[in-house]
Amino acid sequence: TINSSKQAIELEDKYGAHNYHPLPVVLSRGEGVFLWDVEGKKYYDFLSAYSAVNQGHCHPRIKEALIEQAGTLTLTSRAFYNDVLGPFEKYITEYFGFDKVLPMNTGAEGVETAIKIARKWGYEKKGVAEGMAKIVVAENNFHGRTSTIISFSSDANARKNFGPYMTGFVSIPYNDIEALKTALKDENVVAFLVEPIQGEAGVYTPAEDFIQLAAEACKSKNVLFIADEIQTGIARTGSLLAVCGNCSCEGHCERQSTYVKPDLLILGKAISGGFYPVSAVLADNYIMDVIKPGTHGSTFGGNPLGAKVAMTALEVVRDEKLAQNARKLGKIFRERMQVLVEKYSILKLVRGKGLLNAIVVNDSPDSSTAWDMCVALKDNGLLAKPTHGNIIRFAPPLVMTEEQLHDCCDIIEKVVREF
Ligand code: PLP
Repeated sequence: TINSSKQAIELEDKYGAHNYHPLPVVLSRGEGVFLWDVEGKKYYDFLSAYSAVNQGHCHPRIKEALIEQAGTLTLTSRAFYNDVLGPFEKYITEYFGFDKVLPMNTGAEGVETAIKIARKWGYEKKGVAEGMAKIVVAENNFHGRTSTIISFSSDANARKNFGPYMTGFVSIPYNDIEALKTALKDENVVAFLVEPIQGEAGVYTPAEDFIQLAAEACKSKNVLFIADEIQTGIARTGSLLAVCGNCSCEGHCERQSTYVKPDLLILGKAISGGFYPVSAVLADNYIMDVIKPGTHGSTFGGNPLGAKVAMTALEVVRDEKLAQNARKLGKIFRERMQVLVEKYSILKLVRGKGLLNAIVVNDSPDSSTAWDMCVALKDNGLLAKPTHGNIIRFAPPLVMTEEQLHDCCDIIEKVVREF
């Protein structure tokens, strides 16, 4: 057993591959918006496991569902039917307004699945010549870590020395509707894959009408619009999906006038509230019908344990009005950060939507300022992590209260003042 943070860090250092550079904090317990380290120090979580625990840590209702299902039936494979998958499929497709779902496990698998469906649709429905299909993607995207996905990444660290790379992807600048229209002139393009807000890149929010214009441009060219909402979805940005746009519904609705319905919607992370890896690709029949027995699958995808957990995690989002809360708290957070940006020259700007926000530190991306700030935040009881050098992402669980949020803003202000 682990008695100290130091001991745990040494073990990971010695026995684990060094594929991450974690902040030096060793967590041993979580509840709601809080985490505790091995020594018993309490922290506000301001990362939410990259937006996978929107419902808060160890949510009691999801925990109960997991325990109950774990003692009943966990895995059958899809060689047989199970009695949870069907109800989950009905629930999630009605929840998001699609005909069908294809369940997988991780986000990257969801993206891979969407790519495969789009290509197959391109050959079988659109009539693209075999092997010629192209998918348009955006620069600075993050869609996961598989060899296909990193092939169209613009992050040198993610790509270098992992070739040969998968072909068939065309990269355009993010938030550039003219570049998209130009790319769509190629008749071999079958899909445009995009994050409605680029999370990993540093919470880049596009122009308000970009998603809608992009979807319309795709439609006019018979190209599938694929939304990767793995990080932005499930209420994170103040509406159920980031493609819901900026309607005035305060986040209660699912399909308002500004809602852009993607042809393929990819979900992951918070779809299971951090309990179990579940991802999903949603589409209507005219697209999903290209998938036939034997063409795609996964041993764990659609297992009863994951299905039960995901269904409960989605119920929590709706019952606890997490989208509405994210929308309300997000406004307060950005207002308070804006005051800091104007007051302290070490901060350049704040941006984001709902409770997916970032501050840009006024220093070069090669400097350690943002890292040092995150270490100081940790010492003051708040956990956040830099992305791309000088950007700090702030994404607390959506169950946070207004009072807790103000407490967190006070901590951030105290730390910023010292820099
Ligand atoms: N797509 C987006 C937008 C993401 O943010 C992530 C993870 O950060 C992924 C895909 C990959 O998900 P996973 O790490 O579960 O494979």
